[in-house]
Amino acid sequence: MRFAILSRKPGLYSTRRLVEAARERGHEAQVIDPLRCYMNIATHRPGIFYKGKALEPFDVVVPRIGASITFYGTAVLRQFEMLGVYPLNESVAISRARDKLRSMQLLSRKGIGLPVTAFAHSPDDVEHVISMVGGAPLVIKLLEGTQGIGVVLAETRQAAESVIEAFYGLKANILVQEYIREAGGADIRCFVIGDKVVAAMKRQAKEGEFRSNLHRGGEGSRVKLTPEERSTAVRAARAIGLNVAGVDILRSNHGPVVMEVNSTPGLEGIEEVTGLDIAGLMMEFAEKNAKANRTRTRGKG
Ligand code: ADP
Ligand code: MG
Repeated sequence: MRFAILSRKPGLYSTRRLVEAARERGHEAQVIDPLRCYMNIATHRPGIFYKGKALEPFDVVVPRIGASITFYGTAVLRQFEMLGVYPLNESVAISRARDKLRSMQLLSRKGIGLPVTAFAHSPDDVEHVISMVGGAPLVIKLLEGTQGIGVVLAETRQAAESVIEAFYGLKANILVQEYIREAGGADIRCFVIGDKVVAAMKRQAKEGEFRSNLHRGGEGSRVKLTPEERSTAVRAARAIGLNVAGVDILRSNHGPVVMEVNSTPGLEGIEEVTGLDIAGLMMEFAEKNAKANRTRTRGKG
């Protein structure tokens, strides 16, 4: 089969591993920079051009679209989908995952555990929003933040009010969320492929930090999941429509709560911590489902 790895960074660990895993399984693999793809959207003959030439047909496209290029990247992926190429994750599911509010609404509709989360537009409603999540300390998040940037812990009601007002002043969209103190600066990254959690790690924030992101100095270690955590992660990925997802869970007093569902989970940390061939498992899944031409949301827009 022919695999397109849609990524801006051929040198990145995850990209290299995916190429390697595809080739190990006897496939062709090519890294395609989504920003160098351009398209004609003709009714009868949709096409994709790449660096001046029409792209040869692919069987599978593996999207690795960075948060900063979501808009154009998902448009390119959609074009692959229109050409009948099997997407390991679909464009519509990636768009959902990139919007934290939209994701939380989808998860809540499926009854999946979430931290109490509020969203408002008007500065006049700040006080009530703070009360809704149980007062300070609370967490404020930019809707489209990533790698822990744009996530703020406000220890007091006063701090919360000022930060929320500052974000509103900048016309930023934010979530206000209950702070899960009992998680102790740790979260659980569940790597989901299809209907299984194939790997998991605990990430512990460094001293004096509450964000456990590896990019913020957090450290990964092995962890054993409870059956409830497993099923929560799988249901969360399914609710968003992702085949491959990094579902981040906090261990709260009221059970596992989902913080976010990542559509482009990194491979380096999780392969290192677990010693598993996650790239290989992704390729295996893609192979099987591309043959059956099974997608989750085909035709749902
Ligand atoms: P990002 O998309 O930037 O990674 P997250 O929502 O995952 O944003 O938040 C980053 C980190 O902050 C999480 O991994 C977690 O460790 C911590 N965190 C986020 N929300 C909460 C919360 N409500 N309670 C406790 N810790 C949180
Ligand atoms: Mg995160």
